[in-house]
Amino acid sequence: MKLMVRQGAYAGGMQLIVLWDIDHTLIDNAGVSKEIYAAAFAALTGTAPTTAAATEGRTDRLIMQEMFHRHHLPEPDWATVEAALSEAGEARLNDLRRRGTALPGVRETLKAVSVQGEWVSSLLTGNVAANARVKLSAFDLDPLLDLPVGAYGADAVDRPDLVAVARERVQRDRGVRSDAPVVLVGDTPRDVEAALATGSGIIAVATGIHSQAQLRAAGASVVLPDLSDTVHVLGLLATFAGR
Ligand SMILES: [Mg+2]
Repeated sequence: MKLMVRQGAYAGGMQLIVLWDIDHTLIDNAGVSKEIYAAAFAALTGTAPTTAAATEGRTDRLIMQEMFHRHHLPEPDWATVEAALSEAGEARLNDLRRRGTALPGVRETLKAVSVQGEWVSSLLTGNVAANARVKLSAFDLDPLLDLPVGAYGADAVDRPDLVAVARERVQRDRGVRSDAPVVLVGDTPRDVEAALATGSGIIAVATGIHSQAQLRAAGASVVLPDLSDTVHVLGLLATFAGR
């Protein structure tokens, strides 16, 4: 019934592609994420890293590339690196469950977006797909997102390049039209940059280390303290759908 009402109300199409970042947008990983990079690095090199991985919206490809450069070590081929990351992630599912948390309002907001008949709600994350799944499943968020059409850390080095990857997957597999608007939801200036560089909308959330002022300075016109106001987030997304 709901779908029929929507189709009637929005004949002509109010399609929208919503792409969520994971870390510090949907979940607080409580440091487990940095432990995954350290463990993968140790597994690949036989030594613990001397400094923690720099993350903040970087893709896994870039994070690992930079770690190897910083340690003056050659980087193994990507398939080997991705396997080490996935293994380290899988081993930390319980750590994530125990120490981490879904951020305020996230479950309700993802649920509300997932039932909008003409919207596709997926991920745009620097995490490799296996670890994205681990991080979401730790808090039972994975059923609320359309994971197969998302873009992940293996798909590109630079975050803005992930937008086209997700858009193509959504168009190909979900029959969304080619000019459907995309909105990113993320917590870092790199999320904002990815949106601005690709003509996407951005809802920036200050649930990471960046303040609302910093996210605005990075170019985000819509900045929220968090995702706790589900009705407000839904309303904002609807304005992007109507553009
Ligand atoms: Mg993030």
